[in-house]
Amino acid sequence: MQWLRISTLLLLLMPLNVLSSALTRDMVVLTSPDFEGRPSGAKVPHRSAFYIMRQFEKPGLDVQISSFEFKRGFFETGTGHNVVATKHCTSKECHAPIVITAHYDHLGSSGYRHYPGANDNATGVAVMMDIARRLKGIQLDRNIVFVATDAEEKGLHGAKHYVAQIGDDPVFMNINLDMLSIQKRNTLYALASKDFKPLKTQIESQFSNQLVQLTVFFSSKRMARKLNAPKIDWLRASDHYPFHRAKIPFIYFGSGLDKNHHSTDDSLDKINLEKLAQVSKSITGVVLSLASVNASDTN
Ligand SMILES: [Zn+2]
Repeated sequence: MQWLRISTLLLLLMPLNVLSSALTRDMVVLTSPDFEGRPSGAKVPHRSAFYIMRQFEKPGLDVQISSFEFKRGFFETGTGHNVVATKHCTSKECHAPIVITAHYDHLGSSGYRHYPGANDNATGVAVMMDIARRLKGIQLDRNIVFVATDAEEKGLHGAKHYVAQIGDDPVFMNINLDMLSIQKRNTLYALASKDFKPLKTQIESQFSNQLVQLTVFFSSKRMARKLNAPKIDWLRASDHYPFHRAKIPFIYFGSGLDKNHHSTDDSLDKINLEKLAQVSKSITGVVLSLASVNASDTN
């Protein structure tokens, strides 16, 4: 579509630093001690949920909190609160939506121990909010739904709830962002459902720059082998899995193993924010490029 191409060009011409400063601020806020390691389970939404809400409202999205109960152990239940923000389709004929997910919950704090969860998963949430800003003013012929999921760490509960409540409504695809901090190899990884095999080059080409490259896998086992992490099941490891189970095609973006995973050392000083801004720009490119793909193209 012509108008899409023009707006993509405008987007690419925007200076990186203008867009990335808000990204930096979001990373600082989400990992701050005030945010207490973003715990999940309480009856009322954590303050991080309200912060995320406000950031999605700024570029004009429709934002709601969707609460749910989940089981903890045998007797206890917890409450989770997804933040669901919709960028509405502006066309008369709207295709099935793209659902972008990133979990905002982390391990919380215990005593003096503060788990900032910078890579896991402030990076995913901050990039998701940055994508919403970058898409501002761009007209698309499908809804883009951003879901900041809760209680991922306790069993992908937020994503399970979201998938259950959409029922049989068609979804074009899920894009899941979990741990986007670029490690030594300057490579971001993606695990995608086989539906996207014909689009591999199109997806990887959004990352053709000096800072960050993308490698796409279509098999969890192959990804585990290449990342030297034979014990990790990348298909079941994060929020894309409930979508996959519901037969919704997905692409999961992540940077692989992190030695600080689930430790108090997963902190902001370990994150290269310039590379994170580049990741955000490139994933926005993927979203725009896939938004104009018809479902039949992937068959
Ligand atoms: Zn995570």
